[in-house]
Amino acid sequence: MIFESHAHYDDRRFNPDREELLSSMQEHGIETVINVGSDLDGVKKTLELAGQYEFVYGAIGIHPSEISGLDEEVYEWLRAQCSHPKVVAIGEIGLDYYWDKEDEVKRSQRYWFCRQMELAREQGLPVIIHSRDAAEDTLKLVQGIHGEEIPGVVHCFSYSPEQAEEYVKMGYYIGIGGVITFKNARKLKETAAAIPLSHILLETDCPYLSPEPERGKRNSSLNLVYVAEEIARLRGISYEEVVDATRENARRLFRKVK
Ligand SMILES: [Zn+2]
Repeated sequence: MIFESHAHYDDRRFNPDREELLSSMQEHGIETVINVGSDLDGVKKTLELAGQYEFVYGAIGIHPSEISGLDEEVYEWLRAQCSHPKVVAIGEIGLDYYWDKEDEVKRSQRYWFCRQMELAREQGLPVIIHSRDAAEDTLKLVQGIHGEEIPGVVHCFSYSPEQAEEYVKMGYYIGIGGVITFKNARKLKETAAAIPLSHILLETDCPYLSPEPERGKRNSSLNLVYVAEEIARLRGISYEEVVDATRENARRLFRKVK
């Protein structure tokens, strides 16, 4: 069965049918879902969903574009949630220079990324890293903080195969989602074929980034079949092999998942 390593079912776009959709996951072959918080409100909703559904686990953290809502008080609150039995990772955390281009904001992103990496180290939890238009700074920061001691995944990977190799060297996983099915995703297709299968995770980032043939519509974990099929095609292996390996990988990384 499929391990969905990155979803946002707390998003308001799931309000009309969240319960119906989540209740249908297991009959559609989705075994486990990691719901990922990106701001304080999202983290709270993530904990609620994890409490409601046995197969849903939570990642807690503040996204780089949401750090204006992060201070010492919130940080302490996050720390207190780490012992929750269904909190399995710190994330999503990282750097996003796509919208934020001012030096001061970038500096603040790096500061809170570092602090949340340290929280993961202290709590013995893996990290889920978001990095957009910040390839060099992200790699430098993760290497500088001894990323090899803090297991994690670079989610929705969008950089070069050479960059992916640097993360794999540190033991990191590479999260691959719907973008892999896009015709113009040449770099990502190359990456997915080149890195060891033992370092790939399946993810949607839903409601965003629907794969072909559902591109443009609201995404959900049910579309992971298209992602797994494309990875299998690129590597010349079977669909089952991709599903089984990525499930095993995810269970190795998110050790608290039962
Ligand atoms: Zn996300």
